[in-house]
Amino acid sequence: MQLLFERSHPGRGCTILPACDDINLDASLCRAQAPHLPQLSENEISRHYTELAKQTHGVNDGFYPLGSCTMKYNPKINEEIASLPGFTEIHPLQPEHTAQGCLEVLSLADKLFSEITGMDAMTFQPAAGAHGELTGLMLIKAYHQANGDHDRTKILVPDSAHGTNPASASMAGFQVVSIPSLPNGCVDTKALRQAADEHTAGLMLTNPNTVGLFDQNISEITSIVHQAGGLCYYDGANLNAIMGIVRPGDMGFDVVHLNLHKTFSTPHGGGGPGSGAVGCKEFLKPFLPSPTVCKDENGYHFCRNNPQSIGSVKEFYGNFLVVVRALTYVLTLGKEGIPEASSNAVLNCNYMMNHLKDLYDMAFDTGCMHEFVMTLEKLKKEKDVSAMDVAKALLDNGIHPPTMYFPLIVHEALMVEPTETEPREVLDHAIEVFRSIYQTAIEQPESLHEMPLHTPVRRLDEVGAARNPKLRFSFE
Ligand SMILES: *Cc1c(COP(=O)(O)O)cnc(C)c1O
Repeated sequence: MQLLFERSHPGRGCTILPACDDINLDASLCRAQAPHLPQLSENEISRHYTELAKQTHGVNDGFYPLGSCTMKYNPKINEEIASLPGFTEIHPLQPEHTAQGCLEVLSLADKLFSEITGMDAMTFQPAAGAHGELTGLMLIKAYHQANGDHDRTKILVPDSAHGTNPASASMAGFQVVSIPSLPNGCVDTKALRQAADEHTAGLMLTNPNTVGLFDQNISEITSIVHQAGGLCYYDGANLNAIMGIVRPGDMGFDVVHLNLHKTFSTPHGGGGPGSGAVGCKEFLKPFLPSPTVCKDENGYHFCRNNPQSIGSVKEFYGNFLVVVRALTYVLTLGKEGIPEASSNAVLNCNYMMNHLKDLYDMAFDTGCMHEFVMTLEKLKKEKDVSAMDVAKALLDNGIHPPTMYFPLIVHEALMVEPTETEPREVLDHAIEVFRSIYQTAIEQPESLHEMPLHTPVRRLDEVGAARNPKLRFSFE
């Protein structure tokens, strides 16, 4: 496929703007040569992007069981509401009394997401999950500092954690202490008890964890950390198995982040705007990023007079339109629909796992929550067919591969998250495809090394692409 630069013809264009007024700019501010911009008509540009879109795979094309990412369908009503002019044609510096509707959205989202997580207040400033983690850890840090507790420098993180957890802890200036998992995938509470001490600032945990299992010792885990004087951070990026059923606040957590762009059905995956909303318990409220939304007899307004606030973590109020979409989703589902969505996510996941586990080895021999992890270690050893080979074979069948080689504690891992938005026929088809790939792996293992055969590009040099990315068009 040709790049825009390769399709370009001098003089062709779609300029519909009038010529600029003459402005006298200082010569030092002017470029010596005009920029190399591709010159194409609107029609050609439109075809270029349509062609690109056809070569990719999204939730609107087919099954996308990317574990830990919750690639669920994004309802169209979210987009319709988020495109209302009252939300789109607004300026962040507009006087508050002219933006009451938008402030009400933030206030209502605060109330509903606090209710869903069991927290007392939320901020919608963080732009992504990892950004939310950093913000939450800054709250924990500010809390200890306000108490004069300066020696709490360590964050405990289970070895099954999402990679962003230790990275965020380290970025927030903490030392990371890794807590081992038991063979059943859950936290080793004995090891946790030994690690929790007067240097513990907090614990970061995901439950259900990254292997898709609900840790039943959760109350014990959070109380071990609290007894040592630490706080408990809940990574709620994937709330898909538990929303409306059990709340992090009731499990003993003090801070939580949500990925509105995963669980709450706002688009993601293209690097577009996300929202890593952060919730906290009452005692951490004074530290929340500023401004927060308040209400008095004159209506809604922004409160900026929070002397203990960690400050602002993003300009203005975060990715506001993402919050509008997520709020639309929550209001559409309602009080009954939210737990129903979670139950269906868990049902779909168990359905798929149970129709595959006679062929594929599951990493853990229990029921799963919203995602399950298989290990292809045996297939790799006996037939030289890796998790990567199976993933590539799925591509030839119009299925986006599951998450590969994660979590790190499982070898040759494939992590499958079907989500609740897939109907049974899609699951049955995917099961059939997985089973036939397994058959091929046994009978003609070498053939799997050749796949994919039918995609726009075949096996790419992924290491090369990461190490030596080619980000510029060469005009020579
Ligand atoms: C996706 C994810 C994150 C990070 O979220 P981003 O929005 O990608 O920064 C953190 N924790 C878990 C468990 C996740 O699945």
